[in-house]
Amino acid sequence: MMFTAYGAPCTVKDPGLFFDEEREDEAVKACTNCSRRDACLDWSIGERLYYHGVFGGKTPKQRRTIARARGKNVPSLMRLNLTGLPDTANEVVRKLLANGLTVEEIAARTGRPIKAIEGVRDRDRRKAVAA
Ligand code: SF4
Repeated sequence: MMFTAYGAPCTVKDPGLFFDEEREDEAVKACTNCSRRDACLDWSIGERLYYHGVFGGKTPKQRRTIARARGKNVPSLMRLNLTGLPDTANEVVRKLLANGLTVEEIAARTGRPIKAIEGVRDRDRRKAVAA
């Protein structure tokens, strides 16, 4: 079983495809005949993955529109840019770390800087030690 960068089960053998903005059209096409398409879309919205990657054949912008239509509170990109790194991005990194991916793998799959990923990991480790 393959997994997308965020852990969704996926049959496509190139998970990085879904996080390469320059290949967004190709990624959307790869989802066209996927039997998990609806479940994948629902999963991504449930996980609040609104800003990166293609899931269920939908771009981040399309997923934000769908999520808002479903009554979800989805901060705009402009608001996120003003307030810095979205919590959702950190949550994604935590999920991938918990799934056993290395910092380098997470960076490659999400396009996030290694230092940002290490920052999340190290903060969480310090919190765990302090608890
Ligand atoms: S819809 Fe796309 S991203 Fe989701 S499992 Fe299918 S091929 Fe993978």
